[in-house]
Amino acid sequence: RKEQLQLLAAVESVTKDGVHVRLAGNISSVKDLELALKYGAEGVGLFRTEFLYMDRSSFPGEEEQFEVYRQVAEKAGTHPVVIRTLDIGGDKQLEYFELPEEDNPVLGYRAIRISLDRRELFQTQLTAILRASAYGNVKIMYPMISSLEEIREANGILADAKRDLDARSISYNSQIQVGIMIEVPAAAAIADLLAEEADFFSIGTNDLVQYVLAVDRMNEKIAHLYHPFHPAVLRLLRQTVQAAKSAGIPVSVCGEMAGDEKAVPVWLHLGVSDLSMSPQSLLRVKHRILNSTAEESKGVGAACYRLPTSDQIEAELIRFGHEME
Ligand code: PEP
Ligand code: MG
Repeated sequence: RKEQLQLLAAVESVTKDGVHVRLAGNISSVKDLELALKYGAEGVGLFRTEFLYMDRSSFPGEEEQFEVYRQVAEKAGTHPVVIRTLDIGGDKQLEYFELPEEDNPVLGYRAIRISLDRRELFQTQLTAILRASAYGNVKIMYPMISSLEEIREANGILADAKRDLDARSISYNSQIQVGIMIEVPAAAAIADLLAEEADFFSIGTNDLVQYVLAVDRMNEKIAHLYHPFHPAVLRLLRQTVQAAKSAGIPVSVCGEMAGDEKAVPVWLHLGVSDLSMSPQSLLRVKHRILNSTAEESKGVGAACYRLPTSDQIEAELIRFGHEME
């Protein structure tokens, strides 16, 4: 079965009736990228850069970060590489960076909030990413955005980084695209406003589900309440996708839900044709896409939106999945 799946790596990811669903990899390192490419990934939809900052004794400098981002950009060839800026805090800690003790760390000092507070760290990272953009199809993505002000402030620091590179006569892609994660319910609620100032959206369902259902994604005691197929989640997904489409910007999904083949009808119904997932999920999801017709899947996706509970929605998707096998 594993060997059979591997044969799909080189097969184009299209439904039986010709709808292309682009499958990209979520990576944390050059090694992960190699695995994703082996499994046929069409680029990197999420490069989690925090792992560059972990297991060491101080912040990585511009050169060191640039080296890694450049390698990833080059290895991906013409495929896009979405590099997400630092997303620490919450469950991810750094030994050398004293984060405050917080009662609610996932609601606390994390991700873009740290970047906007520690501007020098943020600018160093943006500079390294900009430099790598001269070597491939690199895009920037900000995590945990919850307001327009945050995008504007981050873009102000990006402009500083560009000016600094201009002054040093170092080349970069001046048209580099800058997108945001939609993973805080507030961002989904104002997706139409954010779409005016973002070049693309990527929906982070891991955090979106945690925040909209108020269910800590790390707490095993309430894991049974963590429902990616909750109707509230589906509504936020729809609202976000519609806002992106109205504004004419691309939207992808990069949370674990994208790597769940059961969800394929939901994406086809919503018109999401860009998914990013852990390398290990790529062939499984592609297998499902190859066995699906968009026509029939859209009907099932639409039916999910008429069902009132997570259990019913998930049961419908499981039933349809069995029919596909
Ligand atoms: C997400 O929240 O869905 C996501 C992709 O980011 P992370 O899992 O790194 O928080
Ligand atoms: Mg997240």
